[in-house]
Amino acid sequence: MGNDNSANLRQRQEEREHMMLSKYASFADRTLGRDKDDIQCDIRTDFQRDRDRILHCKAFRRLKDKTQVFLSPEGDHYRTRLTHTLEVAQNARTIARALYLNEDLTEAISLGHDLGHTPFGHAGERALNKITKDRGGFSHNEQSVRVVEILEKGGRGLNLTREVRDGILNHKSALMPDTLEGKIVRLSDKIAYVNSDIDDAIRAGIISESDIPKELTDVLGDSTKRRLNNIVHDIVHNSEGKNDICMSEDVEQSMKGLRNYLFANVYTNPTAKGEERKVEHLVEQLYDYFIHHTEKLTDEFIGFIREGESIERTVCDFIACMSDRYAINLYKDIMIPKSWSVKSIEHR
Ligand code: MG
Repeated sequence: MGNDNSANLRQRQEEREHMMLSKYASFADRTLGRDKDDIQCDIRTDFQRDRDRILHCKAFRRLKDKTQVFLSPEGDHYRTRLTHTLEVAQNARTIARALYLNEDLTEAISLGHDLGHTPFGHAGERALNKITKDRGGFSHNEQSVRVVEILEKGGRGLNLTREVRDGILNHKSALMPDTLEGKIVRLSDKIAYVNSDIDDAIRAGIISESDIPKELTDVLGDSTKRRLNNIVHDIVHNSEGKNDICMSEDVEQSMKGLRNYLFANVYTNPTAKGEERKVEHLVEQLYDYFIHHTEKLTDEFIGFIREGESIERTVCDFIACMSDRYAINLYKDIMIPKSWSVKSIEHR
């Protein structure tokens, strides 16, 4: 009952996309599809469905306790990987909607782009990459795809459309997605982290707004809010009516300048990054421990080995999935001797 009407709801949305969106948009009814056949939803398009699958997956919830820049920050107002992801999605959706591109696809790619990030941000990623370099190394964008294709749902993956996986895989600067929606996310990621990392560094007292070189703030603006607004406007105005997503030369150069400024003054600042050596040590120790004690992995990961996955790959996946807190607690549990209960001795 009502099946025809319900089916019409999705089809009507698909028709609406063709009436409203730019000719350069990715249309849901022309998706390149999923690896495994799936019955379509009666009311949601395939891209809406992908967004929902990502939002409801476990890897998405773990982002709340993964480092963005500052390791396990105690202050409530620092970004985590989850709030960074939501900021990327918001910037990206604003741009997609303004350009009449597919907002659902943009949101799905945004929410999925960092699912494969390790605990402890790029310090954790570098550590895992170093350990696994003889086996192809580790990078978070490839791991994000691995999460949605394999690791979620106990090895079944989320069976997402090819456009979403392409956008997730190619969100890094050195790569380029096939769709304009993916290109929006690739730029929105940079906009979000450059601006919010500056904001968090000011919050931490590492830099102050007036330290940022004037030639950069003259172009981009002199507050986080103004910079975000100006960059988003610049992208929209420079991409309107084009089959590309681009910035003006001035803004692009200033964004690069701001990124270089961050590298020189925040990412490598001893106050912010003083703990990195410890992260490397922790990741190395956990890796070594689980390579030799696979029986201590969780049932889900023991299952992957039983199904034929290599021990090295499985231990790498296990560590990559951890949140900061989970990794620290596990390390303490395994590596630090437990103190004896003084009370029980006193009572003897
Ligand atoms: Mg990101």
